Amino acid sequence: MTVDTGMHAIGKDTVRQLCAGQVIVDLATSVKELLENSLDAAATNVEIKLKDSGLASISVADNGQGIDEANFATLCRKHWTSKISSFEDLEGVETFGFRGEALSSLCAVANVTITTATRESAPMGVELEFDSNGELVSQKPMARERGTTVKLTGLFAKWPVRQQDLKKNIRREYLRLVSLIEQYAVISDGVRLSLTNQTRGGNTVSVRTMPQSDRLARLLTVFGTQMRPHIVHFEHQPTADSSEESQLDLSINGHISKPIPEAGRSASDRQFFFVNGRPCDFPKAKKLVNEMYRDHSPTRFPLYAIAVTINPRTIDVNLTPDKRTILIRHEPQLLAALRQALALVFEPSESVFNVSRVQ
Ligand code: ADP
Ligand code: MG
Repeated sequence: MTVDTGMHAIGKDTVRQLCAGQVIVDLATSVKELLENSLDAAATNVEIKLKDSGLASISVADNGQGIDEANFATLCRKHWTSKISSFEDLEGVETFGFRGEALSSLCAVANVTITTATRESAPMGVELEFDSNGELVSQKPMARERGTTVKLTGLFAKWPVRQQDLKKNIRREYLRLVSLIEQYAVISDGVRLSLTNQTRGGNTVSVRTMPQSDRLARLLTVFGTQMRPHIVHFEHQPTADSSEESQLDLSINGHISKPIPEAGRSASDRQFFFVNGRPCDFPKAKKLVNEMYRDHSPTRFPLYAIAVTINPRTIDVNLTPDKRTILIRHEPQLLAALRQALALVFEPSESVFNVSRVQ
């Protein structure tokens, strides 16, 4: 075989496919992107419904602001977004999305149908269908309340290797999805969120939270109400006199299970970090917390949900398309503050059994 060494630009549609495969990598990222869009649209109710663990269909229905008719044609085009206009906007971005590539990528890996209605159009809405390039191919009127439903079928049908992998590991993939949705359930104040899976064996409700604004209450719907006596609240507030720290605007608000055997787990699967409201991976902090816990409960892992807020100008969330990795300029200070806050929890003299600390 001879290889043509002449260079040429890769065709537009091929580029789209290549990039889409990096944004939507599995079941969990597909659903996560849709849920984030619902939360960005200020929804207070989001219902995620899967058929056959997502292999048959995925639907995410919200009661958010809906989509304006003016945006129908461009909705699923790559890098079309209503959330930022310039690179500078990224600094203060408060929405989960800003890259404008989730819907366009989903079109490349699945069949996408969207129904939506705005306050102005309800009770009339519209059903929109898109092709694999994200172009609008059909539009028909349909009755619906304000909000948006995105339905995906045939996930990865055109990507045989990935589809096979998804089918083979569907149980594990589903559990990863549940863990991810649980993280959004914990952090989404005032949102009713549910995840159900309809299979031949029946309906499974994997996540269901009420629209409480109380963090602990939502945490317990995920961790189980039997954990209530075992969870301790801890926090770190910026101190007025430390100029560097107040510039960071660093605060930590956490819940963690007590370092006693009955409050721990044999795996580190219920450990959630949030930075400025974004669920994320934070391996260094995870290691720190687990090591501190192990000093007191050597064979167990804690459950925890730790929310960090920090000056948005000191972090970068645009490292990876899934935005799970966050670059934190003052990471050492953050870790030191976390260590300090946890030391108070684990310190025997600051008894963790003191109920007044449980909030
Ligand atoms: P991004 O979230 O980065 O803007 P997406 O591809 O996820 O990119 O979405 C593109 C646009 O579609 C969003 O900017 C938003 O305007 C609109 N959109 C998507 N999902 C919804 C939804 N559930 N409700 C309202 N608008 C939505
Ligand atoms: Mg989005």
